[in-house]
Amino acid sequence: MNFDAPEEHEPLRDAVRRFFADELPEARIREMDRARRIPRELWHRLGALGWLGLTVPEDYGGGGGDLTQGVVLCEEISRRFPSLAVDWVLVAMTARAFLEHGTAEQKAHYLPRLVQGDFLMAFAMTEPAGGTDVLGLTTRGEEDDGGWRLNGQKLYTSLADDADAILVLCRTDPAPEGKRARGLSLVLCPRDQAGVTVRRLELMAMRAACTSEVFLDDARAPGDAVLGTRGRGWYHLLSSLDEERTLAAAIYVGITQASLDLTVQYAGERSAFGRPIGAFQAVQHPLAEVATELEQIRLLTDKAAWLQANGRECAGTAAMAKLAASEVAIRATDRCLRILAGHGLVEESPMERLFRDARLGPFSPISNEMVKNFLGERLGLPRSY
Ligand SMILES: Cc1cc2nc3c(=O)[nH]c(=O)nc-3n(C[C@H](O)[C@H](O)[C@H](O)COP(=O)(O)OP(=O)(O)OC[C@H]3O[C@@H](n4cnc5c(N)ncnc54)[C@H](O)[C@@H]3O)c2cc1C
Repeated sequence: MNFDAPEEHEPLRDAVRRFFADELPEARIREMDRARRIPRELWHRLGALGWLGLTVPEDYGGGGGDLTQGVVLCEEISRRFPSLAVDWVLVAMTARAFLEHGTAEQKAHYLPRLVQGDFLMAFAMTEPAGGTDVLGLTTRGEEDDGGWRLNGQKLYTSLADDADAILVLCRTDPAPEGKRARGLSLVLCPRDQAGVTVRRLELMAMRAACTSEVFLDDARAPGDAVLGTRGRGWYHLLSSLDEERTLAAAIYVGITQASLDLTVQYAGERSAFGRPIGAFQAVQHPLAEVATELEQIRLLTDKAAWLQANGRECAGTAAMAKLAASEVAIRATDRCLRILAGHGLVEESPMERLFRDARLGPFSPISNEMVKNFLGERLGLPRSY
């Protein structure tokens, strides 16, 4: 066994830290969080730094890296700006879906623009009637006049308002009895048209991720807008969803690390009863526990990424990483906020945002209850849902 990080990891980690120190200070992050928007210039900058295409092959202008590097980038972005990481994950997972299932023309057309930040794609799976029960979705896609006509409503689509197109999971063909996963397709729907209405949601957490409601009312997509095989959309998504879970775990590793760093520093500076509060055992012990749990979730997340990067079966480990990391982040932000006390509630404190942002983890991109259902079934127990 070898726990040395691959040599490309540390320079990447350092580069992301330098980027935030030099170009994206806390005050600017706070502004975007308040405005609930990530400006396109920032996406272009991430593209120029090579971070939008980090895991895209060099043939398409990407960095040719693998998911272990994706995890490092995602963790480091999340230490400072978790909302940005939520949207970055969408860029990574839509790129993967196109790489794995796109035609040569689709890859050549979309991937080079995606890695530069010139073309942003949102991903719309969740609906009012299909959250955890995602296969309950009712959005329909019908062939019409050489193209596609989409009707339905999507909910919690991140990046939607700022995207150039939305990758919509919809029903294009009837499902055989008891086989709801069949007959679904992935259709790339242009954002800027009368048939697409986007309403931004005012969420408590991950405010800058631009999570929105999307109304598709006779929305049009061209004839070549289907990604992969018609009716196989759900199956095409499976490896992207594993990647999304591992990267989601990395977001919560980043939030936990940032909370710990802030709190250890504060505990050394803030005094009470003539001593730094960090000298009290009641302050040290919860921080020791956070540090221990952080190590556990980082190892699990790295393992999930390594398995997927090496073409191994990773679904169970990716699900465990997402489950563990999101729960640790909830406990860690709670413990750290108690130690920062009033100081952690002030809006200017990054702790206030980390505490809010951690709240997304237990139910997105998949709820932890559903993860446990899945893991229970993998133990050989009967399906519980
Ligand atoms: C900020 C944000 C960003 C998002 N971004 C995207 C995006 O870009 N694209 C996208 O498609 N979706 C996105 N989502 C949606 C997200 O994936 C869903 O919120 C998530 O799948 C849960 O769905 P729900 O919120 O409808 O909860 P529900 O499905 O209503 O679940 C409610 C509760 O019931 C529990 N539950 C339901 N069924 C079972 C069961 N069988 N067993 C045990 N417990 C059960 C759940 O675990 C949960 O606790 C986003 C959500 C948020 C909040």
